[in-house]
Amino acid sequence: MTKDSMQFQAEVQQLLQLMIHSVYSNKDIFIRELVANAADAIDKARFESISKPDLARDWEIRIEADKEAGTLSFIDNGIGMTREELISDIGTIARSGTRAFIEAVRKKDAGASGPELIGQFGVGFYSAFMVSERADIFSRKAGTGKAWKWSSDGKDSFTIEETEKETQGTTVVLTLKDEAKSYLEYWTVSSVIKKYSDFIEYPIRMKHLVKKNEKDEKGKNVEKEELEDSTLNTMKAIWLRSESEVKDEEYDSFYNHLTGQYGKPLQRIVYSAEGTSEFKSLLFIPEHVPFDFQFGERKTNGLHLYVRRVFITDNCPSLLPDYLRFVAGVVDSSDLPLNISREMLQDNPRIRKINTNLSKRIISELAKMLENDREKYERFYKEFGRLIKEGVHTDFANKEKLQDLLLFETVNNPKGKLVTLKEYRSAMPALQQEIYYITGDNRETLENSPHLEILRKENYDVLLMTDPIDEFVISGIPEYESKKLKSVNKGNVKFDESIQKDLEEKTKKANDDNKELVELIKKTLGTKVKDVTFSSRLTESASCLVSGEYDPSAYMQRVLKAVNKDAPNVSRTLELNPTHPLLVAMKKLFEKSKDNPKLSEFSEMLYDQALLAEGSPLPDPVLFTKRTASLMTFCAEKEVSAE
Ligand code: ADP
Repeated sequence: MTKDSMQFQAEVQQLLQLMIHSVYSNKDIFIRELVANAADAIDKARFESISKPDLARDWEIRIEADKEAGTLSFIDNGIGMTREELISDIGTIARSGTRAFIEAVRKKDAGASGPELIGQFGVGFYSAFMVSERADIFSRKAGTGKAWKWSSDGKDSFTIEETEKETQGTTVVLTLKDEAKSYLEYWTVSSVIKKYSDFIEYPIRMKHLVKKNEKDEKGKNVEKEELEDSTLNTMKAIWLRSESEVKDEEYDSFYNHLTGQYGKPLQRIVYSAEGTSEFKSLLFIPEHVPFDFQFGERKTNGLHLYVRRVFITDNCPSLLPDYLRFVAGVVDSSDLPLNISREMLQDNPRIRKINTNLSKRIISELAKMLENDREKYERFYKEFGRLIKEGVHTDFANKEKLQDLLLFETVNNPKGKLVTLKEYRSAMPALQQEIYYITGDNRETLENSPHLEILRKENYDVLLMTDPIDEFVISGIPEYESKKLKSVNKGNVKFDESIQKDLEEKTKKANDDNKELVELIKKTLGTKVKDVTFSSRLTESASCLVSGEYDPSAYMQRVLKAVNKDAPNVSRTLELNPTHPLLVAMKKLFEKSKDNPKLSEFSEMLYDQALLAEGSPLPDPVLFTKRTASLMTFCAEKEVSAE
């Protein structure tokens, strides 16, 4: 039988040189690569066996350590390789990954950093040369009678010759370098398998000696060594099994194992994508925010990425958008390459596709939960609602769906009762033109806000927004189902024409009749206000402050100031209630004596009252107290003299 010797292709030679001289510390990955090749080969054979019933079926991957010969073998009963395949796949044809790998090493001007890249690229079979001085591959293609032996010391050439092999599949025999002899130990191999290949769905078996205590003929305890065959992997790729086959407890304990959290997840999502992107995923929404979860910043991503059951990483943030970072679970892709690099993990069209698919799925699960199990959804929202808001602000593609997941308290509903925008919208009275919201520190202050008075009169409900992020989020939703979202602390509220006309007329008249008084108040308040005007907004209070349509609300200004002391003050318009007795009385006083000093004092007090009513601090609380005290004194004395 002839033995042919062939040269490796130039790029393969360079790659092998790198492997042979590797000082890369994590050499373990060669096991991961060879096991993955074996599992792929079995996948292919299993597929063929559907139409060819005579092919072997008892699938297994076997690892054998021969300490005397110093060899470690990887044996599979998969598809095997023909002579041509051995030459092209293992020998001469450099794949795209090879070139990319060599280029990456070159860019880093080799040296110590070069071999580090092996771990990132994981260049398949060649990684065996990190630990081996030679490799022999015995392979017999399934369904054929001939077997071939491929051998190389990983330098510049390999040989190929016919050989005998009884069964289909491939056996890779590595003659280990002296410094890699620890890979002959059962415990070393089994721990590497546990780490990287635990979920491979075929059994990975290895024989090893175990010590056993037995009694001899005389009944004395003696220690005996026996060869035991163990399966090294659990094969429990729970995410690959159909949901109906897996018990709830199994899912829950996998969730505990994955996240380190106790108890059950709030929601489980089992999802397989087919078509342009193929992957399986098993996702969990936790019941509670994990204690180390940071709302403001992103730590690592909770999802574990597998490629065809081989663990790749648990840190691939681009698998999910930032705001969904509370979701834990596993994604197993069948179209990503096993040797995916770190750069590719960050920016890769297939990962982006997974990200898009997963986001859609998670959002639709949440929408279903909202519809079918309101109580559960509200529990979710209490924990993670802030992230949904973040999503409305950042995920443009899914904004419409995300905004339907928002919940708010409203003025007309009791504390704790939450409504969606849709529910608010469908409960709107026929004449209501806009969707109203108000922002502020807490429900109690907002409920008493003078800004709500006119809306109350019309029985229009108002969404209450007490989370500092709300105003940012809502500014991104200018409209909902063709109704404008309108902050009642800003600009003018628009009413139906039937009401609007009458209000406008009254306001105009009040302003025309009180031009000079308004001027006086404005002059007194100076730069504190943008403008002073009579309006129809108030029915009970005397005054309130209103922001410009596109300015931040008072609450937002306070939030901004808390973060940055130098945030600018944006002045607002002081709106006055023409029918309030105080203003009626001020008008009389003004008509009697235009320069009565009380008029400017009252102007200041109208401004201060407006601040107090919206929960803003007073610029000079002592002065305000003095003024009120003096008014009270005056009033009390008047009462006395009247008696
Ligand atoms: P990769 O697996 O990333 O493609 P490898 O260098 O590990 O790169 O393998 C190259 C090719 O050799 C594989 O794509 C496969 O076609 C073939 N091969 C490797 N190992 C085996 C095996 N155990 N059985 C059958 N074919 C194999």
